[in-house]
Amino acid sequence: MPGNRKQIYLQHKKYNMNILEHIIDFLAPHACIGCGGEGSLMCLPCMSALPHYTSRCYRCTTTVDAYRTCEACRKVSPLTHVWAPTRYTHDAKTLVQFLKFERASAAAITIGDAIAQMVPPDSIQVVTHAPTASLRVRQRGYDQAQLIARQVARRLAVPYAPLLVRQGSQRQLGQSRQVRERQMATAFRTRRAYAIRQADVLLVDDVITTGSTLEAAAAVLCQAGARSVAAAVFAVA
Ligand SMILES: [Zn+2]
Ligand SMILES: [Zn+2]
Repeated sequence: MPGNRKQIYLQHKKYNMNILEHIIDFLAPHACIGCGGEGSLMCLPCMSALPHYTSRCYRCTTTVDAYRTCEACRKVSPLTHVWAPTRYTHDAKTLVQFLKFERASAAAITIGDAIAQMVPPDSIQVVTHAPTASLRVRQRGYDQAQLIARQVARRLAVPYAPLLVRQGSQRQLGQSRQVRERQMATAFRTRRAYAIRQADVLLVDDVITTGSTLEAAAAVLCQAGARSVAAAVFAVA
């Protein structure tokens, strides 16, 4: 196995969450957020009943083919596509909130499975995530975007690799797009250990709002030589 493939494989096997937490999360019975039925955090019928997010450009919301970024927005965005199954409302919101508290790994599996269904297989070679600001990760003990990205990779049978590192921990809630973009420009760097050159990369996150975080992450990956960067998220806010 070539060196970088092996490294990606080894990273894939390394879990950030404590094993015991995983076991408890798996064994504890889950009730569906939508109907209360036992089994998973969201059963298939309730998942299919979530408002479907139709194929639009994530930046200007114009109707497009296959969740592409429209031609006009591609001039300013490094993201080729943003796939998303649903909008950030009602039950989808509740499910995302589970990522932050208890049931994080169960929520990440449910969300990861829903995201993976949106992504055309064979379109990507490596899955990664845009790391959450480090202060919040330290408080929580895990990165929710990473949990989801690992599940998406598993479902797509594509390697997961932590290609990006987050620098700084500024909060960006409630700030203008301009201020956020300025902060975001230096928010990420790539990890040298990974071969990004000529790779088609999929960036995974739970929710997209303005897209400035994912754009900043994609720009860094493109600078490092990625052939293309697309994103897949669970919900569009
Ligand atoms: Zn249900
Ligand atoms: Zn557009």
